[in-house]
Amino acid sequence: MDKTLKTIFIIFLILTSLKGLSQTGILNGKVYSWLMDEYLDSTSVKIQHTNFKSITDKNGFFEINGIPFGKYTLVINGYDGILVKEININQELTEIQIKYPYCEYTSDYKIKTNCPICNKKDKVIPIYYGLIDDKESLKKAKRGKIILGGCIVSFCDPNWYCKRDKKYY
Ligand SMILES: [Zn+2]
Repeated sequence: MDKTLKTIFIIFLILTSLKGLSQTGILNGKVYSWLMDEYLDSTSVKIQHTNFKSITDKNGFFEINGIPFGKYTLVINGYDGILVKEININQELTEIQIKYPYCEYTSDYKIKTNCPICNKKDKVIPIYYGLIDDKESLKKAKRGKIILGGCIVSFCDPNWYCKRDKKYY
């Protein structure tokens, strides 16, 4: 290989590896409110410590282009306050659903049955809300099989209790 060809080849290699390093992705998704049971418009979506940002349209949709691959903190700021979410951009398109405001007890509508502290479910019991007047439930409560939790006052009340860690979640 003569010198010129060799140089061109090396430059080509450098450019290829630079391209590999500077891959970017698109982040899009929808912002949904539990409280209002609807998609939120005019909600600001920003990637912390960058200039990447967007505002949701009337369908709650947002999209941010050209984000270099990496881990970021997304800050969503709307009617119900601020929500912070960790994201990882490592592919061409990353789609996320943001349930807003964030509820750690009912995230994604699924009830978690593993305690987030001990990561076990053997001491996890359900919490019953509302008027409990059947004897069976009262017996269960006496035996410590369930917890009677009064009435639900917010959209985000814990559904489970871990007897080991004495933690509501
Ligand atoms: Zn636990």
